Amino acid sequence: MSKLNWGMVGGGAGSQIGPAHRLGAGLDGAFAFAAGALDHVPDAGRAYAQSLGVAPDRAYGDWREMLEGERVRDDRVDLVTVATPNATHYEITKAFLEAGFHVLCEKPMTMTVEEGEEIVRIASATGRICAVNYGYTGYSLVRHMRAMVARGDLGRVRLVVAEFAHGHHANAADADNPRVRWRYDPAQAGVSAQFADCGIHALHMASFVTCQEVASLSADFASCVESRTLEDDAMVNFRMEGGAVGRLWTSSVAIGRQHGLTLQVFGEAGGLRWTQEQPNQLYWTPLGGRVQTIERGEAGLSPEADRASRVTIGHAEGMPLAFANIYADLAEVIRAAKEGRVPDPAADLYPRAEDGLRSMAAVHGAVASAGRQGAWVDARPPMFRAP
Ligand code: NAD
Repeated sequence: MSKLNWGMVGGGAGSQIGPAHRLGAGLDGAFAFAAGALDHVPDAGRAYAQSLGVAPDRAYGDWREMLEGERVRDDRVDLVTVATPNATHYEITKAFLEAGFHVLCEKPMTMTVEEGEEIVRIASATGRICAVNYGYTGYSLVRHMRAMVARGDLGRVRLVVAEFAHGHHANAADADNPRVRWRYDPAQAGVSAQFADCGIHALHMASFVTCQEVASLSADFASCVESRTLEDDAMVNFRMEGGAVGRLWTSSVAIGRQHGLTLQVFGEAGGLRWTQEQPNQLYWTPLGGRVQTIERGEAGLSPEADRASRVTIGHAEGMPLAFANIYADLAEVIRAAKEGRVPDPAADLYPRAEDGLRSMAAVHGAVASAGRQGAWVDARPPMFRAP
């Protein structure tokens, strides 16, 4: 089977997330890294792409050059990953979708709800995939949690508790460091800092695992480092369309916490607990029973979990493999479309533009709520509200 061609915008030398995308896209051999506009400095981007094996005529100086260069090629890229700073996602994603490319956009997909609705409309009108990189949903045991909820192991879900709390911006003396400061500056970060950066991962994870969307929320935002305009800590209560109660804590001042993404789901018949820093174990407690450890790779897991598991039980899998599962889903769906067949249903789990839009509605809802002493607000995007 020939490889699909993959291209990347952003993710240049020294970037945080670029290497994880390249590892993820490359893992299964489904994608060839064929083109890129990797850096905001054109010559640096061209040189870095070539150092990674991209042919000189496809190592572009900027994304517009890449769009023009790729659209006329017979072997144009099948998928473009957008891994640039947040404020550029909308413009780049929109342009590539309109030119007929499938896109995997980093989160947050857009800065406003209106832009999010526009991306959903364009993806639908063009029939192109717009996936959003909530990459932590790619973990095998996260997919198993979803399967357990869907097949009724927990009974009705009563409560979901999500956290994404780290301590890497806790040093008040370092708050003026330019690498940190922009994140809390509304002119560069938008309306929200910590909730828009990390909280939306946890919120999306709650929806992904429970198969319920967020309906309403109440938020309390705090700037624990006093010089910050935007929040570095948030507590968000939410209600889900299927009736589950949600609690979410996100923070960047939680000293001692590293990545700090956890999810707990409590139903009438049992509870689940998963921590991203130990992603190969899932803890399940049936009502009236003992805690059981479910190991990634063990026999008898769901097909969704099996599909997302690569190495033998007992050998740790981590974040690049979770990203690889998003790429594997996309490769399957793109290939199936090319071959005119129905894709494997277990591959139909990648987060999409609708999820990116829901996150943006939640961000703007949380900002409005926090500004009104935690008043409850509708967290759904206008286009998904009943008339
Ligand atoms: P970064 O600042 O470390 O790197 C950004 C890269 O994009 C740099 O190489 C820069 O030169 C390049 N760039 C900037 N503007 C560009 C442009 N117009 N065209 C081409 N290249 C351009 O940022 P990062 O931490 O890697 O974050 C990038 C994106 O990934 C952000 O949106 C962030 O929210 C997201 N992110 C997602 C996750 C996740 O788990 N899904 C984790 C970290 C970051």
